[in-house]
Amino acid sequence: MCKIQDIGGRPSEREREINKIRSSTRTKYQTYILKMNPELERHAMYDNNISELHRRSTARFRLFLHNLAIERGRWTRKPAEQRLCSSCGVVQDEQHALRDFCINSDERQHLMTQRPLNLMLPTFFNDEDIAVMTKFCHVFTKKFM
Ligand SMILES: [Zn+2]
Repeated sequence: MCKIQDIGGRPSEREREINKIRSSTRTKYQTYILKMNPELERHAMYDNNISELHRRSTARFRLFLHNLAIERGRWTRKPAEQRLCSSCGVVQDEQHALRDFCINSDERQHLMTQRPLNLMLPTFFNDEDIAVMTKFCHVFTKKFM
């Protein structure tokens, strides 16, 4: 894997952190890169004038600060494939919560009728309208935050 370095040859503190995350075997880091932030970049939601409440909900979701079974199971070291949704019987992870979760289906249907978004991770976070994306994230996630 290519390591990030500056021209002087010594990696900066940020570059060392990025390399550490990219090379980590911790599933939480791997999931973060795969589903939340593949480029490990600062999200544009922090540079735009959007609702603080919506930005906070989105940030919490991206950092796994929620009560989905995938995260609760981590606390008890339950195997990931056993961290199931009690309603649907599938792994209750962030993708399930965003796209399929039954407890927010009314909200999802309502918002998707107003303005459809790609609900696949990590594409969801790249929507051009950051205010709409963060609003969706806030409404979708408030029942399991
Ligand atoms: Zn479910």
